[in-house]
Amino acid sequence: PRVCVVGSGPAGFYTAQHILKHHGGARVDIYEKLPVPFGLVRFGVAPDHPEVKNVINAFTQTARSERCAYYGNVTVGRDVTVAELQQAYHAVVLSYGAEDNRVLGIPGENLSGVYSARAFVGWYNGLPENQDLKPDLSCETALILGHGNVALDIARILLSPLHLLRKTDITDGSLAALASSKVKRVWLVGRRGPLQVAFTIKELREMINLPGARPVLNPADFTGLENAIKDAPRPRKRLTELMIKTALEKPGEQTMEAQAVVAQAAAPREWGLKFQRSPQEVLPTTDGRRARGIRMALTRLEGSGDSAKAVPTGDVEELECGLVLSSIGYRSLPLDPAVPFDTQRGVIPNSSGRVEGVPGLYCSGWVKRGPTGVIITTMNDSFDTAQSVLEDLQVGVLDTSASREGFGAVESILRSRGVRPVSFSDWEKIDAAEVARGKAAGKPREKIVDPQEMLQLIGH
Ligand SMILES: Cc1cc2nc3c(=O)[nH]c(=O)nc-3n(C[C@H](O)[C@H](O)[C@H](O)COP(=O)(O)OP(=O)(O)OC[C@H]3O[C@@H](n4cnc5c(N)ncnc54)[C@H](O)[C@@H]3O)c2cc1C
Repeated sequence: PRVCVVGSGPAGFYTAQHILKHHGGARVDIYEKLPVPFGLVRFGVAPDHPEVKNVINAFTQTARSERCAYYGNVTVGRDVTVAELQQAYHAVVLSYGAEDNRVLGIPGENLSGVYSARAFVGWYNGLPENQDLKPDLSCETALILGHGNVALDIARILLSPLHLLRKTDITDGSLAALASSKVKRVWLVGRRGPLQVAFTIKELREMINLPGARPVLNPADFTGLENAIKDAPRPRKRLTELMIKTALEKPGEQTMEAQAVVAQAAAPREWGLKFQRSPQEVLPTTDGRRARGIRMALTRLEGSGDSAKAVPTGDVEELECGLVLSSIGYRSLPLDPAVPFDTQRGVIPNSSGRVEGVPGLYCSGWVKRGPTGVIITTMNDSFDTAQSVLEDLQVGVLDTSASREGFGAVESILRSRGVRPVSFSDWEKIDAAEVARGKAAGKPREKIVDPQEMLQLIGH
């Protein structure tokens, strides 16, 4: 059987891996809109988290399999339709992630100085579409809306000492901008309380131990919490305990390294968590062009635990900041009118990855489950989808007697539309060029950020 996977992030690669491993006769073709593979492992995961990117080795193994092929530089829904892919393959798996970001929906959102986390992350990670972002880092205070790991990633990148970033694969352009950044204070603002934060302990601990940056937590935010977490699940308990300990700790108890750097720095950097504040408006400078602050509604919590709701108390608070980053989540987009889409939840309606009402069509990853969860979560749900495909093949739901040409059929469609796919060995040339460029600077790689340059490099 011939299987097609749309999207080359973790979901696409793990789905392909599982199908290839458990069906000796299956062939899997992976389509990707960018020339380069790996989705958010390359463009989301922070540059100072290289160990997370090790999954790329497993994906590379999969891609090198004789029964697997990679076709980059092909945007499904534009260059080739899902219906055309369904004609060419026995099964089609949609794994195209969550390409949109959720908007705040408040006045001032479009002022200069306000950016989505998605764009900011894409900027320092070399995502081509975000290379012109040129965020203005000339202010001292940045405010991040959101209490998730992405918010912590951004805070860490904004406050990291340059020497720690220099040896990562962060783009040269963003490194230069960060070198002249004036940002020395970052607030992470959440609508709910300390018991509802969405980040994990590893990322929080990293932030607390960040050399040269001082955590500023308000002890009052944490009073009485010891009791509330007595019966909480262990991860929530440990995470909350770490926040409490940090909030109550005197500066003298900081690690030696952190202390030394703080002492050295003329203007120490700091970061903090603010709770129960919901953004109401980004406030403009007098010329009306830039952000100068934010007005937030104070909230109280109704209910407890994960389901607690933030309700405005009627009080407001204004905070000065020249940079506002909204990190309130990603969103999937419908990619083809032929595919059902739940606009409310921002996912493709499915059961165990089988797209509702469309036999032979599947989904995995963020587009299946919503844009939450780490790579392991995505791996598990991709294996679940792959299992559904394998079951359907076995019981004959998918008619494999019908011959399907796979890429053979798609190739002529793409050629007629002037689209030239990038193969995995093409990618390996781009990869080698990036690694070579990084070498001189002691970086794992210097990412090529212009797709045209990538294509030139491989002679397209
Ligand atoms: C900023 C950030 C940091 C993160 N850091 C970590 C971390 O440190 N550790 C961790 O475990 N997890 C991390 N995650 C989570 C992890 O990245 C996700 O769980 C995972 O990438 C989701 O996989 P996916 O394949 O569904 O989506 P994606 O990784 O987004 O892959 C989707 C792919 O589909 C392609 N595509 C989109 N539209 C089309 C189209 N029309 N045609 C063809 N191709 C298309 C995209 O270009 C992309 O390559 C992070 C996420 C973000 C946003």
